[in-house]
Amino acid sequence: MNTSTSQALFEKAQQFIPGGVNSPVRAFRAVGGTPIFIKSAKGPYVYDEDGNEYIELINSWGPMILGHAHELIQKAVSDAIQHSFSFGAPTRREVEVAELIVEMVPSIEKVRMVNSGTEATMSAIRVARGFTGRDKIIKFEGCYHGHGDSFLIAAGSGAATFGTPDSPGVTKGVANDTLTAPFNDLDAVRQLIDSNKNKVAALILEPVVGNMGCVLPAEGFLEGLRKICDEEGIVLILDEVMTGFRLAKGGAQERFGIKPDLTTLGKIIGGGMPVGAYGGRADIMNWVSPAGPVYQAGTLSGNPIATAAGLTMLNYLNDHPGVYTQLEESGKRLADGFKASLQKLSLNYTLNQIGSMYTLFFTNQQVTDFPSAKSSDLVLFGKYFHAMLNKGIYLGPSQFESMFLSTALTDKHLDMVIQANEESLKEVL
Ligand code: PLP
Repeated sequence: MNTSTSQALFEKAQQFIPGGVNSPVRAFRAVGGTPIFIKSAKGPYVYDEDGNEYIELINSWGPMILGHAHELIQKAVSDAIQHSFSFGAPTRREVEVAELIVEMVPSIEKVRMVNSGTEATMSAIRVARGFTGRDKIIKFEGCYHGHGDSFLIAAGSGAATFGTPDSPGVTKGVANDTLTAPFNDLDAVRQLIDSNKNKVAALILEPVVGNMGCVLPAEGFLEGLRKICDEEGIVLILDEVMTGFRLAKGGAQERFGIKPDLTTLGKIIGGGMPVGAYGGRADIMNWVSPAGPVYQAGTLSGNPIATAAGLTMLNYLNDHPGVYTQLEESGKRLADGFKASLQKLSLNYTLNQIGSMYTLFFTNQQVTDFPSAKSSDLVLFGKYFHAMLNKGIYLGPSQFESMFLSTALTDKHLDMVIQANEESLKEVL
């Protein structure tokens, strides 16, 4: 496969951009080699600068749930730009999108739009702190909630990939206010809270983790957290930036029947444009300025172009429940195919899958938390990643990421992925 244009671009990029990329995992550091530079994408395919075609399993890290360049979203954006790009003033569509989010995610009574998942999580913990008058938060090892200072403690995703789960630059004061527990460990959470009585404002988690690879909540874990938060007056924040509008119309909270106090959203909510949101109980959200004293603002928040894309995406998902049936079937087809190949090759690697999210971990351990995810053979993953790429399958370039399916992937594409997976496994072992 010729990737000479990508290689030349990456060499130049490194002169002008730290590490040559605008978000770390894109650099392929964890898997070696040169990142491919994407020129365009349509439906289930991305095309690089050298004209190579790949089947998409990253989908911009989640947002492109309908595949790339969906006609309805393209039209919504091109209609919106006729009326200028930003007003910094309220618009009709912001009201429509807020109303729709409240309809689709029943735990959300009021919602504030921001520009990224990071802004959503940063703002959610600020309002939880204002509301409770407490300083500390609890997060789980290996969960990633964006690059806000408070979350770069035992963080997943790129922070885990690059071995910097605790980032330099985060002050000791901030770090001291973030308590961490192992995922799926209710006893550890109880102990943390007991030793920090009346000090914990919020507990934040990815209800299904995507950022240490795909890791599911153990039975009773989410319910247990809800109970503890109720008993201790702690704000339960579900970070559904990845899972929102993906694992069900109402996100993982609908799928698992858990009602958080606050929810953070991103990715799909912008249809591929930079959008995030946080929302939840009205009595908490009414602490947000100008309704209340907790300050949070944004020049481009509720941007009309981004809102047009997001509103069109959410309306489509709301009106087409078949999207979720298809994604469930696609996820199952892929998982069945992968499992059959593992059995055929007498391999015990762990496949975690739920709906349209999955990770194949190169470990024989069950992966239920960060240490078990880290037991994976990362060198082997790197070889497998490149074997798949050479067969035209574009995966997330790290073991600590989830893959995302879109509705643009037909059975034919899924079967190609299953076959490439089996061939790649044979090649790298
Ligand atoms: N929360 C979760 C669960 C995420 O997966 C991410 C990004 O991957 C974020 C927050 C941060 O979102 P953004 O990258 O839009 O700032």
